[in-house]
Amino acid sequence: MAKKFQNFIDGKWVDACSGRTFENRNPANWDEIVGTFPKSGKEDVDQAVRAAKTAFERWRLIPAPKRGDIMRRVGDLMVARKEELARQMTREMGKVLAETRGDVQEGIDTAYYAAGEGRRLFGHTVPSELSDKFNMAIRVPVGVAGIVTPWNFPMAIPTWKIFPALLCGNTVVFKPASDTPATATSLVEILLEAGVPEGVVNIVHGGGGEVGMAIVGHPEVDLVSFTGSTVVGKKISEVAASTLKRVSLELGGKNAQIVMDDAELSLALEGVLWGAFGTTGQRCTATSRLILHEKIHDKFLQMLKERTEKLRLGDGLLPGTDVGPCINRDQQETVKSYVEIGQKEGARLVTGGSIPKGNGMDKGWFYAPTVFADVRPVHRIAREEIFGPVLSVLKAGSLEEAVAFLNDTIYGLSSSIYTSNVDKAFRAIRDIRAGITYINAPTIGAEAHMPFGGVKQTGNGHREGGWTVYEFFSEWKTVYVDYSGGLQRAQIDNYQG
Ligand code: NAP
Ligand code: MG
Repeated sequence: MAKKFQNFIDGKWVDACSGRTFENRNPANWDEIVGTFPKSGKEDVDQAVRAAKTAFERWRLIPAPKRGDIMRRVGDLMVARKEELARQMTREMGKVLAETRGDVQEGIDTAYYAAGEGRRLFGHTVPSELSDKFNMAIRVPVGVAGIVTPWNFPMAIPTWKIFPALLCGNTVVFKPASDTPATATSLVEILLEAGVPEGVVNIVHGGGGEVGMAIVGHPEVDLVSFTGSTVVGKKISEVAASTLKRVSLELGGKNAQIVMDDAELSLALEGVLWGAFGTTGQRCTATSRLILHEKIHDKFLQMLKERTEKLRLGDGLLPGTDVGPCINRDQQETVKSYVEIGQKEGARLVTGGSIPKGNGMDKGWFYAPTVFADVRPVHRIAREEIFGPVLSVLKAGSLEEAVAFLNDTIYGLSSSIYTSNVDKAFRAIRDIRAGITYINAPTIGAEAHMPFGGVKQTGNGHREGGWTVYEFFSEWKTVYVDYSGGLQRAQIDNYQG
């Protein structure tokens, strides 16, 4: 019997109003059911929003350092459960244990950062233009936060949103991805155990079109924080516009790594293998284009082919596995179709391009790590997000051309350049249009205390992570205190010159 999971609404574990459920399975072994989950709808969302709205009136009055104390306990509980959480995550979404441990660790770091922020949440005091008057701008919570998250970082991304939301005094209605509801449920259990009161955090499982849209369109949800695809992000933006709610969107990417002719090639090789095939290429920051300087192109491509063919595909729970499965059949199909598109467009398949058989892989959604060479910027495999283990290699004659290729995309999340020349590195920092640029490091590897997000169609200008996410989850309130005992008029022209 598969384990039965529930929603958590207004302090109670409950089924969906409709009583319907859906199954979550292991992408490395489709026979294995992780659990059944409520297939919720609008009614469930309505209840969760009502609970969050009521709880907000109490939660906002808890001093921020006390909310921070709860976040510290959350971090401690995550430390204690780290291995169990990582194993659960690998079972439900496939990436290897070292990576799921890293995913949990990012949540732990985010919890402790939030604990510290409880004693900061700085505002400003500013001199008044009048005598006996005090001016300040303070930070206040926004209200009910709708949180909608993807499956590729099932713990880290929800914590990036929920911890700062709570620390700032907001209450939460959380809809995790349908592919990773078990990890999300563990997170909610931890929040409760750490002392988050009833109604402050609510989780509603179910499909994006039903539960996600109901949250986004709900007039009593004051802000929405979403990470996922650009297509869905645009829909969310449109629906949220009808109630003018605040929306943070972290969307797709088509990230590139440049390797110049003066680069340390062995270092650049380690970087691209990790960036392109870590998490089976299913990171928003994954390296999906490699731009090689023409002088080192052939040599580097040969090095890349040899090492890519040595990567071990398999169940992420088994020691020695480098690359796990795709998240589901649809994603495996998407990868397959892009490989066909690449071949039709005239790119050269260097390695991969197939669904592996045998070695226990027949029951999972595996795809061989794939490299295409002779890719030109006009090719679809150079332009569209594939979100799988497929790397497109382009050749450039100069730094200027390499940067132009890198920038030739609708996205702008992460970027990387390998060079030993400091002038070139700084020119790249200046000219690359992306939210994140790495020098001599791969496109993946965000640190939880630094701003995270992208430009162009990767997002709408907000940043998660570090101190910047606290801007999103709080409002500025401007306060004037007049202690003159008289009526002082600030907007009457009494300027003396
Ligand atoms: P997705 O299909 O956009 O789904 C993301 C979340 O939105 C899921 O919880 C999904 O629910 C929900 N959703 C789907 N349709 C919705 C709708 N109409 N209204 C409201 N919510 C809806 O993305 P994904 O395939 O899970 O994740 C991969 C994408 O996320 C990639 O494009 C990747 O680049 C992007 N991503 C970006 C970042 C970043 O920080 N920039 C980080 C990670 C991933 P269901 O699961 O029930 O469908
Ligand atoms: Mg699953």
